[in-house]
Amino acid sequence: MKVLDLQCGQHHVFEGWFGSEDDFQSQRTRGLVSCPMCGDAQVTKKLSAPRLNLSTVRGEREAHGTAPSPAVESASAPMPTTPPALPTPQDVASIEPAQLQAAFLTMVRHMVRNTQDVGHKFPEEARKMHYGEAEQRNIRGHATPEETEALIEEGIAVMPLPLPDVFKEPWQ
Ligand SMILES: [Zn+2]
Repeated sequence: MKVLDLQCGQHHVFEGWFGSEDDFQSQRTRGLVSCPMCGDAQVTKKLSAPRLNLSTVRGEREAHGTAPSPAVESASAPMPTTPPALPTPQDVASIEPAQLQAAFLTMVRHMVRNTQDVGHKFPEEARKMHYGEAEQRNIRGHATPEETEALIEEGIAVMPLPLPDVFKEPWQ
């Protein structure tokens, strides 16, 4: 048995089963092969089975070769560009603390150089300055959190500054 893909004059495609291809040619010449859809006897062989298989293979190759790989490439293409963008926040996270610390230490040094250390009398001195009982000047000193809070509540501008120990000794 041979299965042939046939096409009529109206471009209808149908299968024909014959004992052999010669059998098909013989039946066709005698007008015994006609289109099941329109009855047209102008039937020609459309595609041989091997060519059909070839086109199927080619179709699969195209499906495997072109369709998935561009999808993968387009999906992976943003990936290489995204990681370079990601290290930026990582760099910021790793670099900024050092820069912040440097800026903080610079500010602390500036403050220490330009303030008078009044030690534990800080709340008292700050209050005196605020109420005009003492000369206005920049002071620094020690205050408990409660004292600091009280000063702030009185409207006295104080800034809690956790001084590193290294700054306390040399400048006192
Ligand atoms: Zn037909």
